[in-house]
Amino acid sequence: EAALISSDLGVSVTERVMKRLKQSLLGTDGSQAVLVQKALQQTLLDVLSKASGPTLEQLIANGPKPFVILAVGVNGVGKTTTIAKIAQRLVQGGRVPLLVAADTFRAAAIDQLQVWADRVGVAVIRHRHGSDPAAVAYDGLTAAKARHVDVVLIDTAGRLHTKSNLMEELRKINRVIGQELPGAPHEVLLVLDATLGQNALAQARQFHQAVGVTGLAVTKLDGTARGGIVVAIADELKLPVRLIGVGEAVDDLQDFQPRAFVDALLGMPYE
Ligand code: GDP
Repeated sequence: EAALISSDLGVSVTERVMKRLKQSLLGTDGSQAVLVQKALQQTLLDVLSKASGPTLEQLIANGPKPFVILAVGVNGVGKTTTIAKIAQRLVQGGRVPLLVAADTFRAAAIDQLQVWADRVGVAVIRHRHGSDPAAVAYDGLTAAKARHVDVVLIDTAGRLHTKSNLMEELRKINRVIGQELPGAPHEVLLVLDATLGQNALAQARQFHQAVGVTGLAVTKLDGTARGGIVVAIADELKLPVRLIGVGEAVDDLQDFQPRAFVDALLGMPYE
């Protein structure tokens, strides 16, 4: 119980997990540590399975072209880095991605996306600092159609101090994308920083309510034993984790694997 709480599972989820754990151990010899560990592992996997879904790769492979991903999340969580990592993966898989710099609020955000794009070798659609983000997104889709792009990755603003404006802006981008390309965005990918613990859960609630998140990318899972927030989010919002970030380098991106994740969380190899 202490381990679950210190890994940021949250008190209420921990209580529920403990209850389920006790039920699953009824009739067994609960004094054997290995039985308890296995039951705990299975209980956490059951919670995560409520939020399971296809990988991003599977979504793209079975989705329309261009496949449009709207990346949302608070500044500093690793949104731009994650977009670059996804772009690199797509390039390696023989696909053509296009990046769209729709965080026009911070000049540095546009430049940062450009730096990553140059590194990975992909094109960016950008407007000037301060321009309308929805207009950049619109241009991005127009360009994507003209250039036979496979996947459009739209970077958005994530400033916190004007939360209601931010959510309104995201809704507008969402609308404009849908008008230009019916059915788009095909994935609203919320990027969350695992080290933020319960704050990440609060962010997930807000973004989900505003724009209808369809998948999660959870960053900074390297060097933290506090990934339990992923279980809490799965339990409450039932949003699938598509990807995890495990470092600052461009190839530090993995598909989410519930089993490996739970083992790492519990700090135990499974036999
Ligand atoms: P944004 O403001 O959300 O676009 O965030 P950035 O992409 O600029 O990332 C913020 C910081 O987090 C940078 O220093 C990144 O190198 C770092 N970062 C991003 N993803 C990861 C990750 O998976 N692990 C670690 N350790 N750092 C990360």
